[in-house]
Amino acid sequence: MNYDIIVVGGGHAGIEAANIPTKRKLKVLLITSHLDLIGQMSCNPSIGGIAKGNIVREINAMGGLMAQITDKAGIHFRMLNKSKGTAVWGNRAQADKVLYRSISKKIIEENQYIDILQAFVYHIMNDGKKCIGVIIDSGKKIYAKAVVLCMGTFLNGVAHIGLNEFPSGRTGEPPSIKLTDSINEYGIKSGRLKTGTSPRIDGRTVDYSKWEIQGGDDNPWPFSFFTKEKIVNRVTCWTSRTNNETHSIIKENLSRSPLYSGKIKSIGPRYCPSIEDKIVKFGDREGHSLFLEPESLSNSELYLNGLSTSLPYDVQEKMVHSIDGLEYAKILRPGYGIEYDYFPPTQLKSTLESKVVENLYFAGQINGTSGYEEAACQGLIAGVNASQKILNENEIILKRDSSYAAVLIDDLVTKGTEEPYRMFTSRAEYRILLRQDNSDERLMPLFYKCGYIDKEKYELRENEWHKRKTITEVMKSRLFYINEICNNKEESTQKYKMSELLKRPEISLTDFKNHVDFIDFSDEMLVVSIESDIKYEGFISKQKDEIERNEKLESTVIPDEFDYDSVKGLLNESRIKMQNIRPYTLGQASRIPGVTPADISILTMHLIKFRHLKSFT
Ligand SMILES: Cc1cc2nc3c(=O)[nH]c(=O)nc-3n(C[C@H](O)[C@H](O)[C@H](O)COP(=O)(O)OP(=O)(O)OC[C@H]3O[C@@H](n4cnc5c(N)ncnc54)[C@H](O)[C@@H]3O)c2cc1C
Repeated sequence: MNYDIIVVGGGHAGIEAANIPTKRKLKVLLITSHLDLIGQMSCNPSIGGIAKGNIVREINAMGGLMAQITDKAGIHFRMLNKSKGTAVWGNRAQADKVLYRSISKKIIEENQYIDILQAFVYHIMNDGKKCIGVIIDSGKKIYAKAVVLCMGTFLNGVAHIGLNEFPSGRTGEPPSIKLTDSINEYGIKSGRLKTGTSPRIDGRTVDYSKWEIQGGDDNPWPFSFFTKEKIVNRVTCWTSRTNNETHSIIKENLSRSPLYSGKIKSIGPRYCPSIEDKIVKFGDREGHSLFLEPESLSNSELYLNGLSTSLPYDVQEKMVHSIDGLEYAKILRPGYGIEYDYFPPTQLKSTLESKVVENLYFAGQINGTSGYEEAACQGLIAGVNASQKILNENEIILKRDSSYAAVLIDDLVTKGTEEPYRMFTSRAEYRILLRQDNSDERLMPLFYKCGYIDKEKYELRENEWHKRKTITEVMKSRLFYINEICNNKEESTQKYKMSELLKRPEISLTDFKNHVDFIDFSDEMLVVSIESDIKYEGFISKQKDEIERNEKLESTVIPDEFDYDSVKGLLNESRIKMQNIRPYTLGQASRIPGVTPADISILTMHLIKFRHLKSFT
């Protein structure tokens, strides 16, 4: 059995890692421990949200699958942060978990370049330097030119419910036991992290009259630039709060919590804390938000968002019953915490290839991230770079001004992470440029050029960009009195360009609805895109100036063989850090924590000298 690429794991990273190489007609084997659970959503079946929604659209713009699957499987859609600037809007969907899985599996099954195999991989084969394949639980050896690892929370996974612990990859599935050791053998270090999930409730036992309805948007946005069907909400979600009784139950039982009894030592996701954490850290709050979110149209399971816990089952029952409307609610699956192995991502290149074992790529939760979107995006980048390498083409390393995908990977490989890493808009320095509406323009040209986007799809979007540009140009020539557009007390003796008027905070593009016929106002994404470009023009141009100023640093590649010991004057701490990280560019070097601007100046001078000498050898 010989393949171009073997992908281990059929989760969100694995699906993308397996799919993207097939755009270049590479032969892929996806090995996963449970065939029916390809695309399983281990936690809340929700995709997107603030910053994460942008990642999903970027995945779409790079040729990935997550957006199209979510549009098909989504049952409730809401644009978050709509009262704020469009740069921080975040599209979020509640997906039908069963449908998400079946659509994912079907797409993978129907791909003629992908073979699928249910097995546990327990050994990575290496010919001394390069990865050459894997060995599965039956002892069979399978060979490939590259391997992408995407095992999620399964490596030596231990689940905790109260003080009971048991081996588990995620609920109901066995962990992956031997694989970490096989990877450690090559000198790749691993660590331990923790995450957790909420109890699932039987929807037939809830008194909804005590909860507030949280409807979806009237005109939901699709995640994919290519979805033509109208997106519709099929379910309602509900919201409520915990109360003093819930808090007392938690406080009284903290000694039975694996988190507070010292049983769980690994670090959990700071921004997705368990209810125990919330009560201990913010105990003075009156109540914490809760959401009831349907998991599927085909069953009655509800995800009790906001109540992630690893407290004992009997305490979970008491906690749930203390909440208004859940007095008689039945728990279908208890919440639990899970500890698992991860591989600190500073051991990876920006392509997500191991620095130690050539042709071995790591993606998803095993790199210390949390979340479906973060995982999928890494799977795609690892799959793309494995393909590029096999095809002898240039690696694809995105710059931080291009995407959240770039910010995510650059943060991971440069700074590492000691707690599950989740994406936020605040992590991106150029977030006004990294909007949902323009992710196609930012990424698609490169991925089209490299063969990961179909011509027909690309041309569709190209027409759209052309349309946006033309409209913006026309707006610069159309003149209006201000009073025509809004009730402004200013005297209307002077006409202004439409684009100038739109920069005023009190005017929005839709105010021109009855005055112009060259904009399709029913296309909300088009309207948002044009409006954002014009309203943020000043900020955008400042950010572009800054990007230009940094361009030299970002495009100066540090050769792999560069000897940091030969550079005199570097702080010792910086030298060691740079030796460990082996940054790809001067820009990446400047972001290594502890590396100073003086170090970068010294390094720059030496690089010039190094290049000069090299050109004579
Ligand atoms: C209990 C729990 C709580 C979570 N809570 C949150 C949360 O609050 N917020 C959040 O954003 N995310 C949460 N997540 C994380 C979310 O599920 C993951 O981030 C996401 O699924 C990671 O995707 P992945 O592809 O890396 O791994 P996964 O989706 O976990 O997929 C791993 C895949 O690898 C396969 N596999 C594992 N080992 C082997 C092997 N040796 N051989 C072959 N196949 C193998 C598995 O079958 C599976 O298909 C939680 C996950 C769990 C389990």
